[in-house]
Amino acid sequence: MGGLQVFSIPMRTRFRGITVREGVLLHGPGGWGEWSPFLEYDDAVAEPWLRCAEEAAAGDWPAPLRDLVPVNVTVPAVDAASAHEIVRRGGCRTAKVKVAEPGQVEADDLARLEAVRAALDAGGPGGRVRIDVNGLWDVDTAVASIPRYDRAAGGLEYVEQPCAAVEDLALVRRRVDVPVAADESIRRAADPYRVRDLEAADVAVLKVQPLGGVRACLRIAEDIGLPVVVSSALESSVGIAAGVALAAALPELPHACGLATVQLLTDDVATQPLLPVDGALRVARPAVAPAALGRLAADPGRVAHWEARLARVRGVREDRRRG
Ligand SMILES: [Mg+2]
Repeated sequence: MGGLQVFSIPMRTRFRGITVREGVLLHGPGGWGEWSPFLEYDDAVAEPWLRCAEEAAAGDWPAPLRDLVPVNVTVPAVDAASAHEIVRRGGCRTAKVKVAEPGQVEADDLARLEAVRAALDAGGPGGRVRIDVNGLWDVDTAVASIPRYDRAAGGLEYVEQPCAAVEDLALVRRRVDVPVAADESIRRAADPYRVRDLEAADVAVLKVQPLGGVRACLRIAEDIGLPVVVSSALESSVGIAAGVALAAALPELPHACGLATVQLLTDDVATQPLLPVDGALRVARPAVAPAALGRLAADPGRVAHWEARLARVRGVREDRRRG
């Protein structure tokens, strides 16, 4: 493995509790790969993320089956007028709407959903609305609420992670007509199989870094037999390209993917960032701009942090290999 670059990119707004996205770009014979496990993750959790980066740097991705990957616009828990504007500007035919935000009431969510539906319909028929509860409901709340949210949205494509526990997803799924997607329930390689075995979801949200790369995710998708929505871990365009490679290689892609997140960053390492055009990302490996690497280089203290972390995670892997 050749070069190593540590990048640091400010976020447009605080997201997932962070204001700066940091990570490492590894260079190999196939190009650049991104390793950007969140800072609080321990070395064992960060190891599959490294496999994803190394796979990309080796250039070892499956052949794409499509040229474009449809993506969703994400609507935070904002007021109805702002939600309408975000969907209108987003240019996507699928909107993912955050709901159940602490401090808000159901009427806020329903007004937001009605506004999102109106904005989609203004762009033509066939728009889809999904909601993301981030695990914040209990089973009874989910069962009671979902039909009302479904009506307000003019029909929901699915409800993502209505409850936190995978067992609760299974219970909700048996009591509502709207399909259920598992997101937070899938973070490690064994999780998708548990979702399948408990029949806890109709849709699996897969992220390439936490699950160990494009080929690993492709195998998981094949094994679990559920429709997959590929989602990002807030990567730069280099990391997003790995998610796009998975989405492009899946035999079927019935849902828009959650890969339109480069716009959450104030800058990017690529000459042509992977941003959606007409609701889709092109299937491409973006070229890295040397000037951007300079502009976004982390300070020496952070570089030392990441170099030490990388050495430890490689050590974890060596220990595992030796058994
Ligand atoms: Mg989610």
